[in-house]
Order: sequence, then C-alpha cells, then structure tokens
Amino acid sequence: MTNRDLFFRHIAQTSPAPIAIEVKKAEGSIITDGEGKKYIDCIAGISVCNIGHRHPKVIKAIKKQLDQYLHVLVYGELIESPQVAFATLLASQLPPYLNAVYFTNSGTEATEGAMKLAKRYTGRPEIVAFHKSYHGSTQGALSVMGDEHWRSAFRPLLPGITHCPYNDYDSLKLITTKTACVIAEPVQAEAGVIVPAKEWMQALRDRCTITATLLIFDEIQTAFGRTGTLWGFEKFGVAPDVLLLGKALGGGMPLGAFIASRSVMECLSSDPVLGHITTFGGHPVSCAAGLAALKVLLKKKVPDTVQSKEDLFLKLLSHEKILNIRSQGLLIALEFESAAIAKVVVEKCIQKGVLTDWFLFAPECIRIAPPLTITEKEITSACQLIVQAIDEL
Ligand code: PMP
Repeated sequence: MTNRDLFFRHIAQTSPAPIAIEVKKAEGSIITDGEGKKYIDCIAGISVCNIGHRHPKVIKAIKKQLDQYLHVLVYGELIESPQVAFATLLASQLPPYLNAVYFTNSGTEATEGAMKLAKRYTGRPEIVAFHKSYHGSTQGALSVMGDEHWRSAFRPLLPGITHCPYNDYDSLKLITTKTACVIAEPVQAEAGVIVPAKEWMQALRDRCTITATLLIFDEIQTAFGRTGTLWGFEKFGVAPDVLLLGKALGGGMPLGAFIASRSVMECLSSDPVLGHITTFGGHPVSCAAGLAALKVLLKKKVPDTVQSKEDLFLKLLSHEKILNIRSQGLLIALEFESAAIAKVVVEKCIQKGVLTDWFLFAPECIRIAPPLTITEKEITSACQLIVQAIDEL
C-alpha cells in the first residue's frame, strides 16, 4: 500500500477533499513532493512560515534545544530559558503594559485562555464578537466564531455571546458594562481580508475603555509582519488589552500565546489558582524556534520588505476574471464570480506548481499569503502561473 492509500485509510480527515500532495521537503518558499515536483508556496501553512520553511537559524536553535531538554514539567513551574528569553523579546516589541505572556499549544488555546481571563478579571458574563471572524475550533472559540453555518451543528455552545457586524458603528452600542471582552481581528483574515476603517478601530478602542471592557485582538494570522508591520494593530494607532498570537509565533513549531498586563494576568493565579493549565503550552523547542524566528524577522527588518512585495503581486495579478483584490501586506484575497470558479483556480494552480487556498468565510476568493521572504523572482513565477490558471477558465 502506498503512503497515499494509508493516508486516506488512517489519517482522520475533516477536509472532504484534502490536497494530498506527499511532502518530501520544504525549504524557503518551495515545497517539493515525492516525485520531485516543486510548488511555490503561496499560503505559508496559513500564515505560519513567515520567514520561510526551515530557516537555518530556526533549525539551529531547535537542534541546540534538542541537546538540552525537551518537555520537563507542566507550564509555568520551572524556569525554562527559551520561554523566558522569548517572552522578554516579545514584551520588548509591544506597548510596555503588554508584559505578561502565557504560552499555549495553539492559537485556539490562546483564544480560550483569553476568554477565561476576561471573564475572571472583569467578573462579567458577556462577550461581543464579530460576524465572519475566526478564532479557533474548540467549543469556546467556536462560540465566538462569526458564522452560524459553521457553529450550528455544535450547539449548545457558550451563552452570553453577541455577534455583530464588523466595522459598523451601531455594533459598538452593544458593548456595555456587562461585556467582559470584545474579541476582534485587526484585519479579518478568513472573511477574505476585510480591513476596517482606522476611525472605527479607534472608536472600538474608546468604547472598550469607557465601559472597562477588555479588548482582545486576535493577531494569530496577522502578526509577525504579515500585514506589513510587526503587529497588525500598529496600522490603526490602537492597541489591545489582550493580544492573541499563534501560527508564525513558533517559527514552524506549534505555539500560541495570550499576552496581557501582569496586573490583569495575575487573577488567573488566585481564587481559583491555576486559572489556565496546559501541559505542553510553551514547549521549550517551540519557544527556541519562535525566538530564533522573531530575531530573524527583526534583524532582517522583514516587515519593511512586505509592501513592495504586495505591490508586485497586485501589479502582476490583474486579470479581467478577478473581480476584486483585497489585501493588507502579504495577506491577499483574489475574488472570483463564484466559489466554484475559485475552486477550479486553486486546483489548476496546484497542478501548475503554485500552492494557494481559499478562505473559510469567503470561498469565492483565493488566498495569497506566501512566506514574507518570498523573492521577487518567485513572486513573478507564481503570478505567471496563477494568471495562466485563470486564463484556462
Ligand atoms: N484565530 C485566527 C485569526 C486564525 O486564523 C486561526 C487559525 N486559522 C486561529 C485563531 C486558530 O489557531 P489554531 O489553528 O492554531 O488553533
């Protein structure tokens, strides 16, 4: 039996049609399959591999950590230098009050931890979330997800959640002194790259401040230079009370985090103690990898290189069959007439050697979100192949 047969037999799937390319190697922006066919990676593991696959500095840091220790004890009991160094570097890049980092296994777990933190800190029962937002797949995170189609099969979910339109001033009236937190993406990714107005983000911030509601920014997909600045929220001149990180945080290893001020975070260590527990969150190998990746990102000023690459994509991807392009940095949505057409484009791109994908709440769009380190030559080749795929429609 081939690996492909065994994959379909023993790997549990929730995707009805997995891409099922057998990965042999991934390096930089190129994924190579078992037959030696190369694919230009235009999705970066869904915004994970921001500095490319297997960056040498990340591999070196992982190998060094492997020689010292792997898992030793549940989160937070022992001093593990990769965690400490990484949390210190993250805090140095954030507003000074965002100084306490709780590392988790995943983005979803960061969402869960932050929702619990907000309820515990404020003592309030309600949460406000936005239509077409994605914050993860467990039951708490699913409860704040902004699409009933994806939620309804799993009810009952958490009570006390109000979903409202994003980038809409009337929505802000629903934030009251009963609201523990508002959870929002600074740029809605799975909605197909929806960028809110700066003024609305500022009004959202103000409304949260006035009602003493914690503002949670889910930057799991938008952080680490994806939108052209280190943090997505920088473009709006506002900052959250709690920041959620994941995906690129681990430099290709599994890692998430929720970050708040020490004075807010402290409530999780009393009455009851152990307000959030995780065995593997902040795994030392993941933290070593994430630390190395962030150092590369900062040293090479990777976020500063994003705008010109975004411009190049936008220039090379004009086509009459693309109805609309929405982008923020290297998070780009190409909109087609229907989901069926977008699906054909994705399939044809894969056949031609470009890996793209669609968006959960915008299936009529295809996703272009390559490693931020993709070269101009790779962008040019990828765009040629994407345009050829569209020409064949
Ligand atoms: N929030 C956002 C904005 C995401 O894009 C994702 C992952 N697509 C998550 C949360 C959940 O992260 P994870 O899959 O690591 O649990």
